[in-house]
Amino acid sequence: MSNEDTKIKRDFFARDDDEQQAFLSQTWCDNCQAADLGMHTPLEYELDGTIFVEGSCNKCGEQVFTELTEDDL
Ligand SMILES: [Zn+2]
Repeated sequence: MSNEDTKIKRDFFARDDDEQQAFLSQTWCDNCQAADLGMHTPLEYELDGTIFVEGSCNKCGEQVFTELTEDDL
């Protein structure tokens, strides 16, 4: 990605355990075309005012993104 520098890193592990578990289990994988397979090695960042939690799919290992809308904040 060329716009790497516009990402603002956030601390995923500062979230409540329950919240972390929810993010790690409630996923959508484009590659598997399946929901809630789970992800590992999460990374949280803000890009253009939107917060993303990015990780690797537990099944295929492809990158999985969860986008947080304002309603989730
Ligand atoms: Zn997958």
